[in-house]
Amino acid sequence: MIIKPKVRGFICINAHPQGCAANVQEQIAFTKAQGPIAGGPKKVLVLGCSTGYGLASRITAAFGSGADTLGVCFEKPPTDSKCASAGYYNTSAFHDVAKDAGLNAQTINGDAFSDECKAQVLELLKNCIGKVDLVVYSLASPRRTDPKTGVVYSSVLKPIGQGYSAKNLNTDSLKIADITVEPANEQEIADTVKVMGGEDWELWIDALQGADLLANNFQTVAYTYLGDKLTWPIYGHATIGKAKEDLDRVAKTMSAKLTSVNGKARVAVLKALVTQASSAIPVMPLYLSILIKVMKENGTNEGCVEQIQRLFTECLYNANPRLDAAGRYRVDNKELEPAVQAKVEAIWPQVTEENLFEITDHKGYRDDFLKLFGFGVASIDYDVETSSLVETNF
Ligand code: NAD
Repeated sequence: MIIKPKVRGFICINAHPQGCAANVQEQIAFTKAQGPIAGGPKKVLVLGCSTGYGLASRITAAFGSGADTLGVCFEKPPTDSKCASAGYYNTSAFHDVAKDAGLNAQTINGDAFSDECKAQVLELLKNCIGKVDLVVYSLASPRRTDPKTGVVYSSVLKPIGQGYSAKNLNTDSLKIADITVEPANEQEIADTVKVMGGEDWELWIDALQGADLLANNFQTVAYTYLGDKLTWPIYGHATIGKAKEDLDRVAKTMSAKLTSVNGKARVAVLKALVTQASSAIPVMPLYLSILIKVMKENGTNEGCVEQIQRLFTECLYNANPRLDAAGRYRVDNKELEPAVQAKVEAIWPQVTEENLFEITDHKGYRDDFLKLFGFGVASIDYDVETSSLVETNF
């Protein structure tokens, strides 16, 4: 079949296998070029390993530190007539390169929130990998089934306390119009915390510790975004921000439980980036289009793999990690530089449909978005017949 992007709203419903593979190879090449990570991890579990920050974490652990990796993701396999999800193709490509490099890589494609998946991971670790020294928690999901009750919880992206109106870019029609989001009620706030808060992270670490699968000097990290004034009403101070605050609570509780393995649990604050998760958040596409322009002009723009390389070398495996007052690793420092934020805030009110491609880097945003699905890669001829099938190697 000929595979060209089919974008519907803020998602792309297909993906290009060779394009995705090329993206994975590019990230691996970047990681290798940085050289070995001193004191890096050796056995790593990545929850949410197939796209975005989780994929970059897996690549950094494997190709920057020679680690055995066990990844968990929730991805759609291909059929003869339908493409797989991008994360499926990414994972297949990761396995190909890891195998050639002689690295031990295992993946479970299943619901990380379920007890069955946790049991499968424990079994695989016992039989194929051993005790882990790093667990990365990088799940981004709109819903979660509680493993004990079977109740399905859905998250919402809403402000708290009062409604919020802001300029918003429709990435499909390229129309810019004000949107108003009504405030969340108490139930919606609680449900969002249930999906994206720390409960499942803690269940994972408890299960691993209970099975004696944590190595000495064990670390675990969960990812968050804080942002600044422009995004606070819809992110930092909104329902998703409440869920992320819950990660801080859990990091403290877990660190106390991990003393027997000299372990620690921390939250890492990462920069805003175009990923499947962030493109669904109102305001973010316009904020990112401006941010990309400002940070490129500054020479400080980064993608997932650059961010995670700095997380490993400047925080996780550094004797003097950059921590904030709440004990979180900070890798969002370049995004939050006051001069960068001031420029973004100055551009924000000036953006119109007419000047979108001049005063913002919306082209860069679109390129990054399509790249998530394997499109726009220079080395790929998208007019050539391609099979949607790839070798099922995980
Ligand atoms: P993403 O959508 O690219 O990746 C999500 C991952 O979770 C995928 O591997 C997917 O397969 C997996 N997943 C989802 N539901 C699952 C389930 N039920 N079981 C197993 N796997 C499942 O997301 P991302 O943007 O890389 O976000 C990862 C984390 O980083 C999130 O916690 C997010 O809040 C945080 N973060 C994102 C940004 C950003 O701008 N994108 C910034 C800072 C922090």
